[in-house]
Amino acid sequence: MRLSPRCLAGTVIALLCACESAPPASPAIDWEEAAIGLEQQALADRQFVWHTLRGEAARVHYRPGSFAARHAVMLTRSGDASVRRAIEIVGIEHYEHPVDVFFFDTRADLIAFVGVPATGYADWESSSVFLVFSPTWRAFDTHEIAHVVSINTWGVPVEPIWWIREGLAVYADGRCREHTVQALAAEYLRRGELPYASDLIYRFANVGEMPGYLGSGSLVGFLYETYGVEAIHRIWQQGGDAIETVTGASLNAIDARWRAWLENVESDVEPEEWRRVIDDGCG
Ligand SMILES: [Zn+2]
Repeated sequence: MRLSPRCLAGTVIALLCACESAPPASPAIDWEEAAIGLEQQALADRQFVWHTLRGEAARVHYRPGSFAARHAVMLTRSGDASVRRAIEIVGIEHYEHPVDVFFFDTRADLIAFVGVPATGYADWESSSVFLVFSPTWRAFDTHEIAHVVSINTWGVPVEPIWWIREGLAVYADGRCREHTVQALAAEYLRRGELPYASDLIYRFANVGEMPGYLGSGSLVGFLYETYGVEAIHRIWQQGGDAIETVTGASLNAIDARWRAWLENVESDVEPEEWRRVIDDGCG
C-alpha cells in the first residue's frame, strides 16, 4: 500500500494508534468493492497463515503459535465488546458488516503488512482492523473498531478531521494504561499543559502526539456527554466551525466549559507513572 499524505502524518502517532488509508470517494460503502480490501489481501497472502475465531460481531484472525493465539477467546470477546461500544457511541441499533480483526506479534510485522508505522490500523472500507498484541503491548481494538464503525456510519468527517476522528476513537476506548482518558486530560490541565480546543481542532499536528490524542479524546467526550451524540454527529459532518451553531456557545466558551468540567475529574497519576505514559504511550 502506498502512503497517502494523511498516512505519512501517522508516523508521529505510532505510540498511541494508527493512521488510516485514504478515504473512499463517497461515504456510501460498496461492499462488493470492499471485498478486495486489505482484509482479503491478508487472507489471500501466502506468507501469512491465519486461524479464525468468529464472535457475534467480530472475526478474530491470528497466526498459529502467536501471542494472540493463546488469547483468541478473550480477543474475540473483546472484539465483540468493541463493536458493541462503537455501535453505542454512534447511536445506531446494529452494524451490518462483521468486523475482521487481525493480530500481529510485533510492530515490524504489522508495518510490513499495512505499510504504515503504527501499532494499529483501520481499513474501514473493508471493515477490518490490524493490531499489534504482545506481552508488552495491549491491542487498541476498541479504538480501531470505533474508526471502522463511525466512518462507515457517518462518512469521513469534514475537515479538520484529526481531532474529531481520533477524539471519538480515544473517547470510545476511554482508557490509557490503567487510567481513564479524562484523568490524564485532567493531569495535563493541572500541569498547565492541556492544549486549547482551538489548537486541537485546527492545529492538531502541532500540539504533539499524546496531548493531541488525549486532549481530543477528552474534548470529544466532554462535547458528547454535554451536548449529546447528535451534536457530535453534526460537528462530524459540518466541521469544527459548526461547534458554535451546534452548541450555541463560542469556541472560547466551549474551551472554558471543558476546562471547568475537567477541574472536577480526579487526576490520580503519580509522577513516575505520568512519565511512563508520556514516554511509552497507552499500550
Ligand atoms: Zn486512530
